[in-house]
Amino acid sequence: MISSKYSDLTLGQNEQAEKMKKLWKEHLEAVRPYVPGKPIEEVKRELELDNVIKLASNENPLGPPPGVVRAITEAAGEVNRYPDGGCFYLRQALCEKLSISGDNVIFGNGSDEVIVLALRAMLRHDEEVIIAHPTFLIYNIASLVEEANVRTVPMKDFRYDLKAMAGAITDRTKIVFISNPDNPTGSYVTKDEMDDFMQRVPEGVVVFLDEAYGEFAKGDDYPETLELINREDKNVIITRTFSKAYSLAGLRVGYGLARKDIIEVLNKVREPFNVNSLAQAAALAALKEEGHLNRSLALVREEKKKFYSQFDGMDLTYIPSRTNFVLVNAGRDSREVFSYLLKRGVIVREMTSWGIDGFIRVNIGLREENEVFFRALKDAVRDIPRL
Ligand SMILES: *Cc1c(COP(=O)(O)O)cnc(C)c1O
Repeated sequence: MISSKYSDLTLGQNEQAEKMKKLWKEHLEAVRPYVPGKPIEEVKRELELDNVIKLASNENPLGPPPGVVRAITEAAGEVNRYPDGGCFYLRQALCEKLSISGDNVIFGNGSDEVIVLALRAMLRHDEEVIIAHPTFLIYNIASLVEEANVRTVPMKDFRYDLKAMAGAITDRTKIVFISNPDNPTGSYVTKDEMDDFMQRVPEGVVVFLDEAYGEFAKGDDYPETLELINREDKNVIITRTFSKAYSLAGLRVGYGLARKDIIEVLNKVREPFNVNSLAQAAALAALKEEGHLNRSLALVREEKKKFYSQFDGMDLTYIPSRTNFVLVNAGRDSREVFSYLLKRGVIVREMTSWGIDGFIRVNIGLREENEVFFRALKDAVRDIPRL
């Protein structure tokens, strides 16, 4: 209080702003922080609602299975100790499951952290990254924080245009980010498209393959990418997460897979205890819960069909999705649709921060939750005029 009063007296507001500017790195002016989906508790408080359904952050509506909760409870008694910085048991279990070597894995505080580590370790002054539009916002934010020049390649019909992305590569390009499947469109890159892109990408470029929704997308022509990590002539980092199909978003644990020499460099910029002990215990237990994983995938598969038929019935177009969410064109002011649904206790994501006005992204919830969403959306579509 005293200091702000003092500065008001001595400096004008602009002068104060100028003075503060010297404190931080100039390039951060261009960074707009990520705005997460509203938490359930906050919406309950603000709107005085008893029941709130969150379909905004692509979380798994099924809570963690009992075996995982037990593992967390058991680990809770040991939180006076620092976690195992090497994630020994989790690494062992994951490597066994994937038939890879421990040297090929880095764990992160969410797979988001691996994005940051890759940029921090690899990006040099004046180098650029290539991202699609629209895609996961963190690629852009984290790249700007690391002072990268970000080049954006528009999608074609809401699908990655990998030929155009390969064509955008210059001798300054360091990393190309590919979200497969993509968030927020839900579309995916096929095996043929991926093969073709890998042939075009030059040796000095890092291909960052974000497979946060890979479990939902498996099958037919979705590419199996694991073998790419050991190629000497290409540089591939694959990330996956326990946040979505494995129901552990609140604990923050994900991982990156890459050639040993790449993992070594990422480890240099990683904080020593980046994955907490409860997250390690939970992820280890989650790997054994095949039943939970299959139930999660089955729920999404079955309920997604209803989303499509409901949208068809409301005359709304949507992007076919290989994930646990759907991007739908509400054809109306999406902020209005968002607020309308919020008042009915349903949180969705509206897409203006992605620059796709009129769209909302909604993830698949429990069957009863989805029914509430369908009813509320039907009313919104009736009450809000078309654009
Ligand atoms: C949710 C999501 C992630 C996962 O982030 P975590 O940090 O592992 O929770 C990564 N990439 C995309 C595209 C996502 O949507």
